[in-house]
Amino acid sequence: MLPELDLPTVLILHKLSFVVAGLCFIYVRSQSRESVGLGLLAVGFFLVALASILVGAGSLLQARAYVFAMAGMLAGLVGYAVFWLGMCRISRQRKRNREWLVLALPVVICLLIIAAGLYDLPHSRTIAFQTTAAALLFASALTVRADNLTEPLPVRKPLAMSILIAAVLTLLVAVGIAFPLKAMNIARNAFFASIICHFAIAFFVMALVKERTEERLRGLVGLDVLTGVPNRHSFRSRLPETIRYGDAIVMIDIDHFKRINDTFGHLAGDEILARVARELFTRIRPLDSFARFGGEEFILYQPDIGKEEALAFADSLQKVVSSIAHVMDDQTVTATLSMGIAVGDEKTSTAMSLLKKADMALYASKAAGRNRLTLYRAEDFVNEQFMRRNNDT
Ligand code: GH3
Ligand code: MG
Ligand code: MG
Repeated sequence: MLPELDLPTVLILHKLSFVVAGLCFIYVRSQSRESVGLGLLAVGFFLVALASILVGAGSLLQARAYVFAMAGMLAGLVGYAVFWLGMCRISRQRKRNREWLVLALPVVICLLIIAAGLYDLPHSRTIAFQTTAAALLFASALTVRADNLTEPLPVRKPLAMSILIAAVLTLLVAVGIAFPLKAMNIARNAFFASIICHFAIAFFVMALVKERTEERLRGLVGLDVLTGVPNRHSFRSRLPETIRYGDAIVMIDIDHFKRINDTFGHLAGDEILARVARELFTRIRPLDSFARFGGEEFILYQPDIGKEEALAFADSLQKVVSSIAHVMDDQTVTATLSMGIAVGDEKTSTAMSLLKKADMALYASKAAGRNRLTLYRAEDFVNEQFMRRNNDT
């Protein structure tokens, strides 16, 4: 059995929990890029705390207490609606203007209460308030959980759960008030438990911001600074150990890039390099892996593509890149690509051996005059391999 809780203390703690959680949101807001969502969450919680103060002040008055109570109800419901808006913003990171329509809900509920003549009946008012607040909290929990599809973060589960529990407790307060004899102490205990939920929500929102930042940093570590495409390190981590039949590796090298640098300067060279990288990267298939391999070289891994399609795809990349006219110092420059392709055959090979074959095919493209692609075929390279081995020993 729970000891009977002292209601005034519970109410003060309840108010303070909103204020403390709101201050936490403001602190994280000052330290992160998630400013709008966190700001809305803080405003939402502060409004709910203000609502509680207004209702408390109204109950001290003899006459017209309902004026304060209705003002408190409006402020509180607007607070929960703003909280939902904040959760949408922080969870989705996208702005949807029509979401602001939710602010009409508190106004409609208050007008209905006034129209039904319930404004002077504390129980009816509280039940309407708690039920609407619970609905907005349920919606917030659903939003956080549903967005896991677009941005899976471990913290979404506990955050959604904390908001869901807060919603259930808010509803229980309404039940406790509606059935005071059957559900003794329910409202009071639910109020008390929801204090913990407010802290949990603040804690998990902070954890969400932290997890998102870490996820971004992890992404940045895998990106090439100049071009913004994945770097060699992240490519290696995505390349499987063994290659299956039909998997292709394409080595790509910009032709005579040194000449471009020498003619137009290194910065212009950087610009062309970044543009070519982006053009290539935006065209790869969803399951392909692409990276800047180093210097003016790129690498592409295409699982299960097959020889014909790999050749056609590489050909299309070559055409796209050579059709771009880069304007430098009032002159136009075009960059061409040499490519080497190796495709996994019946004898399953390792990714490293396929990569070496693609590299050999690339050098064959260079030797044959550049701006072309060469498919690695064992019979064409047997002699070369033999000669290299002899040279090495
Ligand atoms: P090839 O057709 O044989 O590939 O000739 P190339 O001039 O493209 O190749 P080479 O290997 O002789 O020179 C590569 C050049 O690429 C030299 C190097 O300065 C330039 N390069 C490598 N990385 C960067 C970079 O990040 N920015 C710029 N601007 N140039 C780079
Ligand atoms: Mg090169
Ligand atoms: Mg080159």
